[in-house]
Amino acid sequence: MGHTRRQTETQGVEIHLGRLVKEIDPRQRRVMCDKGDIFTHEKLLLATGGRPQRLPFDDDQIIYFRTLADYRRLRARTETGRRFAVIGGGFIGSEIAAALAMNGKEVVMIFPEAGIGDRVFPRELSQFLSSFYRQKGVEVLAGEKVTGLKARGSQRALQMGNSREIVVDGVVAGIGIQPNVELAQSARLKVEDGIVVDEFLRTDHPDIYAAGDVAAFYNPSLGKRIRVEHEDNANTMGQAAGLNMAGRSEPYHHLPFFYSDLFELGYEAVGETDSRLETFADWKRPNEEGVIYYLQKERVRGVLLWNVWKQVDAARRLIADPGPFQPGDLKERLPA
Ligand SMILES: Cc1cc2nc3c(=O)[nH]c(=O)nc-3n(C[C@H](O)[C@H](O)[C@H](O)COP(=O)(O)OP(=O)(O)OC[C@H]3O[C@@H](n4cnc5c(N)ncnc54)[C@H](O)[C@@H]3O)c2cc1C
Repeated sequence: MGHTRRQTETQGVEIHLGRLVKEIDPRQRRVMCDKGDIFTHEKLLLATGGRPQRLPFDDDQIIYFRTLADYRRLRARTETGRRFAVIGGGFIGSEIAAALAMNGKEVVMIFPEAGIGDRVFPRELSQFLSSFYRQKGVEVLAGEKVTGLKARGSQRALQMGNSREIVVDGVVAGIGIQPNVELAQSARLKVEDGIVVDEFLRTDHPDIYAAGDVAAFYNPSLGKRIRVEHEDNANTMGQAAGLNMAGRSEPYHHLPFFYSDLFELGYEAVGETDSRLETFADWKRPNEEGVIYYLQKERVRGVLLWNVWKQVDAARRLIADPGPFQPGDLKERLPA
């Protein structure tokens, strides 16, 4: 790396690239890096995100899709490769499979759940999505597991539970992330599923903050602590943490949304969109355009806006509304 230190004159931010923080010392307010640099601070933000979970049969040819470098590696492999396996049927798996198919590649998707996005979408929608992918030419192996991987020259043979083998030119895995909490743990900050922060995004040390994928925060609309692995949360929470570190005292009560695009389908979702909750689907056109409400104890916990746009704030208001709501009350409630 040519330059490891850069100063942006206008913003007053000093950037040190190619450094890994190995330890933080809250008492001395110091940050120790792998190359021996030590930085001192008044306030400190931990925004270390997460790292991909790895498969038990790890192999350096598996691309765990997370970084720009991963994208470049996959892109390079598509120059010569024809057939690709995508392990995982969640956000990353469904987006990568669609992107590869749209680029003319043969794709086989493998995951243990019953359908694509099964943890978020109600069963019928997840089944529809699996059929939709099949119509687009993707081989969807739902309810199946890869148990091992063998090299076949530059190709890889996936070993399936049913002793079948699938030979491909590239393997991408998106099976979830685990938050990078180790710095916080070794500094004895409170960590549960992520670094625990208060409503001002402070950890249990008053000068150390956390934000983004790594932070577990309390959301008043949902009445519970959550950790969110999505862009809107990372952007909004990062900004809120920065403001509070600079002296403001503004609580972070934002209920983040997330979005995804799958071929020509697209959605935005807010709150707790967990397919295990009671759901009510209000379709304008079945599986093409409509709103799905997730309910628990007569309250709306989450809203999925399926090809329905500019309704995120209205969905947030509905989730904050104490109700009570019966599924029938929600018919044609959105778009507002
Ligand atoms: C392929 C992909 C597609 C996505 N698509 C969507 C989408 O469609 N919609 C959506 O809402 N969200 C999406 N996301 C999620 C979104 O990108 C993340 O929620 C967001 O990037 C989290 O930001 P963050 O800053 O908390 O963490 P990250 O972006 O993970 O950044 C963490 C940073 O901390 C650094 N770091 C970690 N440990 C250390 C250390 N010890 N020392 C120094 N640096 C360290 C890392 O190297 C990294 O630079 C996607 C993510 C991926 C990977």
